Amino acid sequence: MSVYLDHNATTPLDERVIAAMIPYLKECYANPSSIYREGRLARTAVDSAREQVADLVNVQPSQVIFTSGGTEANNLAIKGTVSDASRRLAVSAVEHDSVMQVADSLGSHWGVDVIPVNESGRVTEKAIDDALQEKPGLLSVMMANNETGVIQDIAAIADKAQKLDVAIHTDAVQAAGKIKVDFQALNVNLMTLSAHKLYGPKGVGALIIDKSLQLSPLIHGGGHEMGYRSGTENVAGIVGFGMAAALAESELEKRQAHLMALRDYLESHLAAIQGVSVIAQDAPRLPNTTMIVVPGIEGETLLMQMDKENVAVSSGSACHSQNHQESHVLLAMGVSPEVARCTLRISLGKDNSLSDIDYFVFVLEKNLNQLISSTWP
Ligand code: PLP
Repeated sequence: MSVYLDHNATTPLDERVIAAMIPYLKECYANPSSIYREGRLARTAVDSAREQVADLVNVQPSQVIFTSGGTEANNLAIKGTVSDASRRLAVSAVEHDSVMQVADSLGSHWGVDVIPVNESGRVTEKAIDDALQEKPGLLSVMMANNETGVIQDIAAIADKAQKLDVAIHTDAVQAAGKIKVDFQALNVNLMTLSAHKLYGPKGVGALIIDKSLQLSPLIHGGGHEMGYRSGTENVAGIVGFGMAAALAESELEKRQAHLMALRDYLESHLAAIQGVSVIAQDAPRLPNTTMIVVPGIEGETLLMQMDKENVAVSSGSACHSQNHQESHVLLAMGVSPEVARCTLRISLGKDNSLSDIDYFVFVLEKNLNQLISSTWP
């Protein structure tokens, strides 16, 4: 048996997404900028995908800029808006590295405020007020965290930012497809999406923009994507993203109910295992994400043991897997470095079943018992 429980790292392609992409990998290979018939067909496909992505987050298609993924969209959002004029950026302490590292790289030129979070991983009203007092050119707070699944109250944060005329960006890469994401209702100015977290292909994402905002491109060239992002479009990838977005929208409630039932089942079993606790269990969380801590047992060691039994989980952010430092997210939540090394993230997907959870719990208990007895004299 093989069980994949690492959907926050990436998701498998939905069969319907593959079916939608195949014609654009085979016969319909023309460049969408070409004006003959085949080129126009490719252009129509890109336009339809733009509508599908726009529908998922309730915006106009002209607000969707396709990028090479969430990382590029986060870079574009920040570097494209924080201008010399404002010289200040505020980001929450739990952002993904594709925001954190951009902030770091700008740190020598601009003032960067890192907004603290509480022990549940949420930014507080006071912390936002403090950050806004510095009048940043941009405030970036993610909608849901990739490691803990903790959800921020973006509408309330955006309300404060808008009142002070501060532009706000939210990284909704983990939220989209798992909870309702409505750009307009959230009242944000920029939003990041990535296809491979919602059963679409890797290497394609989008930045959703408020067209009244001044945004400078990072990549210059032929003026594609309304001048915001040059480069011949990844047509098959974009078509796949469109289909994945359409499915995420139409199946959202069904997927949510399924994931929530699985997660509750998982967490009820975890509660019965001595020493295991769930991080931020009482905070609003994504329906698919459970991060556990087992003090004294290194997450990496546990992960490798689980891998031997064909269970794929993560010991933190996927993008950290080559890097054995403690998670900055957990440290920001006040977790000690020793405990932060003892975590495991289980992120469920729409195709998981109760028997996957049963197998995971069985393998977890077995390995914990072995590891605990091997650490005792
Ligand atoms: N933002 C978050 C919250 C993520 O979890 C990830 C990927 O793990 C990214 C951004 C980066 O997205 P991509 O892999 O499409 O570059």
